[in-house]
Order: sequence, then C-alpha cells, then structure tokens
Amino acid sequence: MKQFENSKRAFAEASEYMPGGVNSPVRAFKNVGGDPLFIERGKGAHIEDIDHNVFIDYVLSWGPLILGHADDQVVADLQAATAKGTSYGAPTELETELAKKIQSIVPSMEMMRMVSSGTEATMSAIRLARGYTHREKIVKFIGNYHGHSDSLLVDAGSGVATFNINTSPGVPKDLAYDTLTVPYNDVEGVKAVFEANGDDIACAIVEPIAGNMGVIPGTQEFLQTLRDVTTAHGSVLIFDEVMSGFRAAYHGAQSLYGITPDLTTLGKVVGGGLPVGVFGGRRDIMMNITPAGNVYHAGTLSGNPLAMTGGLSTLAQLNESLYAEMSAKTTRLVEGIKQAADAHNVPVTVHHVGTMWSYFFNAGPVNNFDDVQASDVAYFAKFYKQLLQQGIYTAPSQFETNFMSSKHTDDDIQATINGFNAAFDAVEN
Ligand code: PLP
Repeated sequence: MKQFENSKRAFAEASEYMPGGVNSPVRAFKNVGGDPLFIERGKGAHIEDIDHNVFIDYVLSWGPLILGHADDQVVADLQAATAKGTSYGAPTELETELAKKIQSIVPSMEMMRMVSSGTEATMSAIRLARGYTHREKIVKFIGNYHGHSDSLLVDAGSGVATFNINTSPGVPKDLAYDTLTVPYNDVEGVKAVFEANGDDIACAIVEPIAGNMGVIPGTQEFLQTLRDVTTAHGSVLIFDEVMSGFRAAYHGAQSLYGITPDLTTLGKVVGGGLPVGVFGGRRDIMMNITPAGNVYHAGTLSGNPLAMTGGLSTLAQLNESLYAEMSAKTTRLVEGIKQAADAHNVPVTVHHVGTMWSYFFNAGPVNNFDDVQASDVAYFAKFYKQLLQQGIYTAPSQFETNFMSSKHTDDDIQATINGFNAAFDAVEN
C-alpha cells in the first residue's frame, strides 16, 4: 500500500495559510476525498510525491506539459534565458518570435497579444469583442469553462462544476445577466438565443472541444451554426482553445472542423509549463487593442522572456507526426480502459480527441453537461483511490480532462491499462 503521510502533513500545514490548502480548487481532491498529493519532482511521464511514491502522470499540470516533465531542451533553454535576466517590462524579440510561430500553426491569429494565463486571455477577448461591437451581451455554453473572470463564471465547468456552483457569489448580477447560457451542442438553442438577442450580442465564446466537463467534442453542425449566426448578426465568434490548442490537433480544434473563428484564445501548451495566455485573431478586430486602439489591455509580466522561452522551446519540438504518434497512443489507452471496464461490467464512456481523453462512469451517450452530471461520481471517487494505489495519476474529478505527452511510452500505457484492471478488481471485489 502506498502511504501518503508526508502529503497529509503538508496539506494540513498549507491549509493554515491558504484557503482549502491550495491555490486552485480542483487540486484539493474534494471530489474524490482524501488529501492531495504534494509533488516533489517530475521527469518525462512520471511524477514523484513527497512520500517518494512514483506515478504515471496524465494530469501534466492540467495540460501544458505536452513534452512531459522537465524536458531536457526546455530546461536548458529556460536556464539560458534565466541567466540573461528574468523580466524587463520592455519589448524583446522573443515575443515576435513566439507570435510568428503561433501564427504559422494557427493562421487565423493574424495578430495577437501575450498575457499570463488563460483567464486573462478570455477576459481580454471578451472586452475586445464588447469594445469592437459596442454591445454588452455574451453567449457561453453550459459546462464550458473559460477561466474565472466575472462574466464567464456563469454555468461553468471545471472546478465550478466540481463544486456544484452555478454562478459564483461575488459575480455582480448585472454581469451575470449579460451572460446568456445555452446547453452545449444544442443547435436549436443557439439559433433561438440569437433570434431573440442577436443584435445585442457582442460575442459567443465556446470550447470547440469541451474539456472542462471531461472531453466532449462539439458537433460539426453545432459549431457551423454558431459560425453562421454570429456572422449573420455581426457578433464576434471566439474559440477558446486554451485547452484544445496544440492538444486536440497540431493546428488546434479549428483545423479539425475547418471553421475559422474571429478570435482565438490559447494557454497551457503555448507556455510549455510557464504562465502564458494568448488572445488573437482578425487584424481589424485586434487593432482596437491599446495602444493601437482604445480597448484597454496591459500586463507587467505580459510577454515575459522566460514564459516566451518556455513556449518557443516547446512549440519548436511539435509537428504533425508527433501528434499522429501521441494520438495513436491515446487511442490505445482509452480502448484498453474501455475493455477493462467492460470486463468488469462497469458502464463507462470514454472520449478522446488527439491528446485529450476522459472516462465517464456513465453508459452514455455523453454530449452535454446534463449527460456528464448523470455519471456515477461516488464510483469515480472509490475508483480514483484504487488508481492512485496502482501508481496512476489522472484528474481527481469526473469533470476534467486527462492528457497524453510525447514521453509516455508503450510500457507506460500497458502499465496504465493493467492499473485500471487492477483498480476495477479492487473496487468490485
Ligand atoms: N479556457 C479553458 C478552455 C480552460 O481549460 C482554462 C483552464 O483550464 C482556462 C480558459 C483558464 O486558464 P487559466 O487556468 O490559465 O487561467
């Protein structure tokens, strides 16, 4: 049996200083019970906690670490950048270099701005859409999560769903009132909300492949309808690819659907494990940002040289064939998980796109937030504890996505499938 005594002690101490003992809520393991693991180090696909237990890691810092932990090249590039200086608050060529690289991979981002988190990217994109259209209402989808800015914390996924909060206390009701929510993948709902409010809607923001209620791909018809109605009503379409960017596919979810949004937000992989977000898109819209235009945006650490280096060093190692490889590994893994569940007569639905994957204890189909909520979260909690005992670290909530990295080997995947089988054995017997 793995012991977690040091993590337990560290969590008790952390809880004296930080609310809930953490700096981001889902880390607290509330959904699965027990104490969170405190991590000592990571290398490749593996992490080690402060009790010296080693796990195969599919959380990967909630997505950013597509090259696994402490990739040699990324570490070397960061060390070299750090030796030069950590921040100047003045432009560096690294920012343009990263922008060029991003544009070459996601061509719809004609211009962009770097920020320090996905939350900042979506918050700024919403302000830009409102400033550009001179409208105030926005449309978002139930169970999608776009970070924790006020307008976007309405009917959100991720931790908001994990803790069963519809709209956080502290969000002014007028702002919540301007956020119109529609069920995900609901084509008629999209048409209806634009019919009723279209000329007041500044933008629609969507995760084209939802990842904050587990993985749920948007349907082609849903996303095309969204593109059509936003165009028809002069509203801005924002694809939030903070998670799906460089994850669902090399060129992002937008390349899988062949649909071009007006604005895109990125985060996670684009910083390679350092704090980076990006928002960008149509030149005529982006030129409204200060100082080119008058929609305000700023940041002391925006475009920080270390963060830019983390992104550049990571993106330099990505290419189509690596995605084909990682995607094949993900398919193999989720098929193995499905077989393990079937062999134990446990109803499960597995979803995966590119390097994103999740498992729902739910017979399916799972196409929206209501479907996800029908999953057996009590079973998930029991199962999760057994999975940890098997040395497998997946997201500690039914409402989150797991990830694959370039460093997971065939042996890691086989060990994970064996671990799932053993965890089912332990829960069922
Ligand atoms: N948008 C999406 C789709 C996300 O998945 C997340 C975070 O999980 C965010 C925005 C917020 O990003 P951050 O946590 O970096 O603020």
